[in-house]
Amino acid sequence: MISKKVILTGSFGVGKTSLFNQFIYQQFSDKYLTTIGVKVNKKTITVEGEEISLLLWDIAGEIAQNKVPESYFLGAGGIVYVVDLSRVATLTNMQTDVAFLKEILPSGRLMVVANKKDLITQEQLAQLAIQYKHPWDITTSAKTGENVEALFIELGKRLLTPL
Ligand code: GDP
Ligand code: MG
Repeated sequence: MISKKVILTGSFGVGKTSLFNQFIYQQFSDKYLTTIGVKVNKKTITVEGEEISLLLWDIAGEIAQNKVPESYFLGAGGIVYVVDLSRVATLTNMQTDVAFLKEILPSGRLMVVANKKDLITQEQLAQLAIQYKHPWDITTSAKTGENVEALFIELGKRLLTPL
């Protein structure tokens, strides 16, 4: 079986831990508990008949402020970069963060995820997509579970695709 290290990253409070908990445990909590250090969990998915074991790293800290040690990214096959649709401030760092991630992990498969879709209307989403030139790969809700599985299946597909 193929095994891949996947890093979850993005600003504080965008929903990284919530996406992780929804994906691994099918659970959601409204409480905000700051992630301390790193939490690692494993889940096996099946993509196009192939099993992939995902080693998910849920880390604390902002990439933009260099608070994530580069060593965290060592050996990572995939990166899930999360922004919060209900806080526009998290969208403004997106371009620079994504450029940085591509630079430090050129062969990494990247998924840009716009989370908390349940907090905005369809019109607001359409507006943000135009304003920010639709830079995300998928929109999710860690609360309702919408697209959470789909996000990791798509990442799995990309992990299986040669660059
Ligand atoms: P992290 O700092 O990126 O790990 O963010 P958390 O996963 O801890 O989430 C921060 C806060 O946002 C918590 O209060 C969560 O309950 C809430 N949250 C996370 N994802 C969603 C979502 O998709 N929808 C809603 N409504 N709230 C969310
Ligand atoms: Mg967290």
